[in-house]
Formats: sequence, structure tokens, C-alpha cells
Amino acid sequence: MTVTGQMLIGHTAVLGGQGSIHGLAAASGEVLQPAFGGASAAELERACALAEAAFDPYRQLPLAQRAAFLESIASHVLGLGEELIERCHLETGLPRARLEGERGRTVGQLRLFAQVVRDGGFLGVRIDPAQPERQPLPRVELRLRHIGLGPVAVFGASNFPLAFSVAGGDTASALAAGCPVIVKAHSAHPGTSELVGQAIARAAQSLGLPEGVFSLLFDSGRAIGQGLVADPRIKAVGFTGSRTGGVALMQIAALRPEPIPVYAEMSSINPVLLLPQALEARAEQIAPAFVASLTQGAGQFCTNPGLILALEGSALQRFESAAAAALATQAAQTMLTPGIHRSYCQGVAALAAHAQVQTLAQGLAGQGTQARGALFATSAEAFMGCAQLREEVFGPASLIVRCPDFAALQQVLQSLEGQLTIALHLSDGDHPQVRTLLPLLERKAGRLLVNGFGTGVEVAHAMVHGGPFPATSDSRSTSVGSLAIQRFLRPVSYQDLPEALLPAELSSGNRLHVPQLIDGQGPISPTTHSPTGAFTHRS
Ligand code: NAP
Repeated sequence: MTVTGQMLIGHTAVLGGQGSIHGLAAASGEVLQPAFGGASAAELERACALAEAAFDPYRQLPLAQRAAFLESIASHVLGLGEELIERCHLETGLPRARLEGERGRTVGQLRLFAQVVRDGGFLGVRIDPAQPERQPLPRVELRLRHIGLGPVAVFGASNFPLAFSVAGGDTASALAAGCPVIVKAHSAHPGTSELVGQAIARAAQSLGLPEGVFSLLFDSGRAIGQGLVADPRIKAVGFTGSRTGGVALMQIAALRPEPIPVYAEMSSINPVLLLPQALEARAEQIAPAFVASLTQGAGQFCTNPGLILALEGSALQRFESAAAAALATQAAQTMLTPGIHRSYCQGVAALAAHAQVQTLAQGLAGQGTQARGALFATSAEAFMGCAQLREEVFGPASLIVRCPDFAALQQVLQSLEGQLTIALHLSDGDHPQVRTLLPLLERKAGRLLVNGFGTGVEVAHAMVHGGPFPATSDSRSTSVGSLAIQRFLRPVSYQDLPEALLPAELSSGNRLHVPQLIDGQGPISPTTHSPTGAFTHRS
């Protein structure tokens, strides 16, 4: 396959008629060929019409066929081979090894959702049999299952050009839920997007699926992305990116005559708490591990450790010295886009210029769009008094907050917005303090982890990659792991529907062998209990 600059509207490759965009080589800034035609309003209309037409036939396919589609996408993505890795490396500057790993995660996610679909537990089937003899009134028969919400718009992330983009977690979970998907390609990796889009279209065609099950649009401005969210045929949105972008799309969705859910993953500084006994015992071990997590992938992970909280004292001084020494030798790394590099440099400059912030260390200087790591420190009082210090600086920068006592540390935590992760470094002797903190930590973050850093996100059944606003727009959900399918489902209850009219998964004989909760008894599972391979990657 080759990159042609064309979008995909259903099965048809189309050169968009509204302006054009170019990919840029992340490392050199060179303009890449070909140009990508942006979608026109008419092309958006066509993609939405096809998605709407595909919804009923697609969602009513046998579950095995839906699962086969996801597996076929995985095979076709793998079939893109070196061309995909090469183009993605060029557009993002991410190392090949990282991209090969991310491709493995992408394929693994698709296969995981195929298992989820085959298992049928995600349907959440519940049956309350009729009780005609019940006194004083008979009970009706109720049967419940979940169906897809309808066509879903997906906005992929710049920092995960494979695993959170065209065939990434949002697309995989929406397709698994029975929802057609229209992806608005990220302008930071258009060629990668086209290649992966072609793989999905080939999978759909090879299985004879309704053509509107997938479309890929390029946008030469903001009108097509915004028009997509506003279109009445779109019933949910998946987004990963900036807080500004996520909030803009949330507002459009909320102002529609029929508002729809937007699952936006936006901003998180991922606090790391160094508990006193752990810090005393292991300051010199924790520091280099922290720096490795901070600088990996030029710090462009949504779970990057942007904040360290600890009590003042000699142990914290030892940690600061060790972290500063480790950071000072770290090479600068190419960032994803000139825009992300610019924002990072502005964020670091603002911290360095802040009167109450001390610069502890910087990594080695780079060139072009390379980012050097940066480590800062401030007091608890200054941190709580300045909202700017609590904002995400996307990249390898982190701020240590020195707390005079445990009460101050609790106040600092209380002042934080919602987070994707909070990491705790603790020893056995720290348990009483941690026990005190846990209720507050649970209210602040989607995932609490111990003696590690949030940058490893397991794609699994018990993973939550989510959290209170602004980490996400809806803290009830996760964008990673099998539970992500729940975002695109809604329950439908069937009262006294004749057996002959019931969907197969609700049949009395349970012909499909899906998990059923019958009269409150039985194996109910929101997704699946089947074992799966685990895929650990950064996010
Ligand atoms: P972004 O600028 O929000 O873009 C994400 C996607 O949304 C892109 O497709 C973009 O279109 C589109 N978009 C953004 N604002 C829009 C608007 N107002 N209306 C319609 N569409 C809009 O995010 P990014 O470029 O990936 O990264 C920029 C910043 O996002 C980073 O500096 C970082 O702060 C944050 N970020 C956070 C995470 C996280 O997981 N927490 C991950 C990645 C990035 P275009 O392609 O045309 O720009």
C-alpha cells in the first residue's frame, strides 16, 4: 500500500475537496508528500449518512462476525509491515522499537475486544422471569441487554499514533460495541492514519460488512471535526488530546438539540507521593526510576509524573540531589510536533521564571524540536496559592512540592484537580499514613499504584485509564482495557416480548451461551471473564 493523500468514505478512497494538509517530518521539519485533501461538508455528510445506514445491519451481525472483523483489522494492520513503521517514525519522531511495541499493543487491543465480543458478557444480559401467580399483582417478564449507541466519532491522540489513533482503543471498543466509527485523522500523522485506515477498510470489505462501518476524514481546519461532533447521526465521541480541544468538543456536544456523551481524555499531572519511610530508605533508588519515567518518550505520556509530593527534610534533599544528577545526563529528544514543542518550552520557561519556583536540574540541551528534561521545586504554600503551578506541562518536566508536614501534604492533594494516576512510594511503616490518605486519593484519581510510576498502562480487564475532570470528561469510564466498551453501550429492556421476537442472546435456551443473570442469580459480568494476554505500554 502507499500513502495517497486520500480519505476513506466507506469503502471509497476520496481526495478531499476542502483545502489540504501536509505531514511534517518530526525530526527535520521537512514537509512530507503527498498533500492530504481536507474533507468538504458534502464529504462529511456522505460519511455520516453511510455510518447511519450501516448501524443496524452492523450491530445485528452475529457476534462471531463482529469479532472476526476486529481480528481481521489486526491482521491487516500487521500486514502493513515496515511501511507503517517507517511512515509513523518519520511523522512522529518516535523510535522504531517504541512504534513496533505500540503496534503490538494496537493489535493486542483489537484481539482483546474480539474476545470480549465472543464472550458476550458485555451484553449484560439480565432476565427476570414472569411471576403470573405473584400476589397482590403478577410480575411481568423483563429481559435486558445492551446495544451500541450508534455511530461514534473518534479523535485520535498525537502521542499514540497507533494505539490511540485510527485503529486504537476508542475505535476498537466502539466497533466491538456494534457502533460504526468515523475517525477524524490527527494532523500530526496523516500518512500513518491513511495506511491504518486502508487496513480497516480492507478488513471490512473482505468480510462484506456494510461500507459505512468505518470512514476516515482529514480536516484542513476545525470545521469538519466540529461538524462531525454536531452531526445528529453521531451518538458519542472518543477523544484524546488537549484540555482546550476536549472541552471545545464537549461544549459542541452539550449544545446539540440531542446532547451526546464525549469521552475525552485530556490533562493529568499524575502526582507521585514519596512517603517518609520509603523516602528515608530508598531515596537514591527511587530518583533514577522517576527520571527514567519522566523522560521516556520525551515525556509525552498522559501518565507522565509531573508532580512529586514529599515532606521536607534530609531524605527529600537526598532524593532531589539524586534526581537532579540523573536528569542532568539525559539527552534531549524530538517531540511529536512543533506545536507541542513550543507549548513545552513555554511551560518550562514559565516555571523557571516563577518567583517561588527553584530550578533543580535540566537535561542536556537539544536542537530543533528536541525537548530537554526539567526538574523544579516549590513549597506547598506557593503551590496551593498559584493555579498555574497545577497545570500540565506536556513533556519531560516535573515539579517537586516540599510539604512542611503531613497536614500540608493532605492540603496539597486536596487542591489538585482530577488525575489519571496517583503513585505512592511506600514501606510497611508508611501504611498508617497511606490508610488515612486513601479515601482522598480515591476521589482524585482513576488509578492508584504502589512503588512504580503511572507510565505503564496494562491493557487488561481491571485497568482504569480515566479519572475525574480534567483527566477525563467522564470519570465513570476508562479508555484502556476491556471495560472501555461500556462507553458505547446502552441498556434496552424488553417487557413480555414473545420468544419468537427476542434477540438470540435473550432467548430462554441461551442459544448463544452468553453470561446471563437470571432472577438476580448467575454469572453477570460487565465485559468478560475470559483470560487474555496482557499488553503493557506507556500511555
Ligand atoms: P489537540 O490539539 O487537542 O488535538 C487532538 C485532536 O483534536 C486533533 O485531531 C485536533 O485536530 C482536534 N482538535 C483539537 N482542538 C479542536 C477544536 N477546537 N475543534 C475541533 N477539533 C479539535 O491535542 P494534541 O495535538 O494531540 O496535543 C496537544 C496537547 O494535548 C499537548 O500539548 C498536551 O498538553 C495534550 N495531550 C494530552 C494527552 C493526554 O493524554 N493527557 C495526550 C496527548 C496530548 P488537528 O489534528 O487539526 O489539530
